[in-house]
Amino acid sequence: MNLQNYTQICKELQNSSAQLVAVSKMRSVQQIKTMYEAGQRVFGENRVQELTEKQPQLPNDIQWHLIGHLQRNKVKYIAPFVSMIHSVDSWGLLEEIHKRAEKAERVIDCLLQIHIAQESSKFGLNELELNELLDKLAQNPLPHIRLVGLMGMATFTDNLEEVRLEFRYLKKLFDKTKQKYFEDNDSFKEISMGMSGDYKIAIEEGSTMIRVGSLIFNQ
Ligand SMILES: *Cc1c(COP(=O)(O)O)cnc(C)c1O
Repeated sequence: MNLQNYTQICKELQNSSAQLVAVSKMRSVQQIKTMYEAGQRVFGENRVQELTEKQPQLPNDIQWHLIGHLQRNKVKYIAPFVSMIHSVDSWGLLEEIHKRAEKAERVIDCLLQIHIAQESSKFGLNELELNELLDKLAQNPLPHIRLVGLMGMATFTDNLEEVRLEFRYLKKLFDKTKQKYFEDNDSFKEISMGMSGDYKIAIEEGSTMIRVGSLIFNQ
């Protein structure tokens, strides 16, 4: 737990339009409680099972974000309570989230994950796939989904200039997408990018949500 770093990041964010998603994967319920008592309400988990185990043990006003890869058959476990899903990267997954959200009588906020890294292992849509998905959505509206923006993970590298260019690409793609598909939609406004090692760069490049774990939870 590093409340000093936590406080420092919160201070930095006051002068920006970004918010902090505290990434609590692999952290105990007790550690999350401490962060909650320090004032944090938005937490991100990357695995469904871990999320569904922790959620009932923690306060109800926590907003849980699913930030990791999501399999269709697991959507049903989180649909009743999840506040945002950052990692939507296919039409099939979007349809499944819609179906489960409808059943739970909810509208679930989602981000579309974009492939911005050099590595081929990372999940996410390319620009063409993004446009195909949004064209399809225009033809087949999903009222229990609210698309609120884009998410990306930069290459895992020490080369921060490379990372900056990837964030810049995501911001540009967001602006294009906003103009083409969401011009009159005030909800489409989020760019989820930046982690412990690169969140400052991400903010400079237009991030609205940084996902930070180790920097605030490690000693
Ligand atoms: C773990 C994780 C983070 C946070 O990483 P840190 O380097 O610990 O800040 C952010 N986003 C995703 C998708 C993650 O899985």
